[in-house]
Amino acid sequence: MRVDSGACLMSGLCMSLAPDVFGEDGHRAVALTDRSAPDGRLLEAAEFCPAEAIEISDLATGERVEGTA
Ligand code: SF4
Repeated sequence: MRVDSGACLMSGLCMSLAPDVFGEDGHRAVALTDRSAPDGRLLEAAEFCPAEAIEISDLATGERVEGTA
């Protein structure tokens, strides 16, 4: 999983959905881990992020599952 912090608009959606995975550095959202399994919360965050700043990848293959191209 990857967050493009430069694109983040700080809507707070991702942190509300998965506060154990997404945090913030005072200005932008950041990923607290890059090794989370792509569960429903993360997929929802990537799908509905208003900045399209979240990319979810399969842990085994590394292929993009959801998010920015
Ligand atoms: S959902 Fe997207 S825009 Fe909103 S805080 Fe998370 S990364 Fe930033």
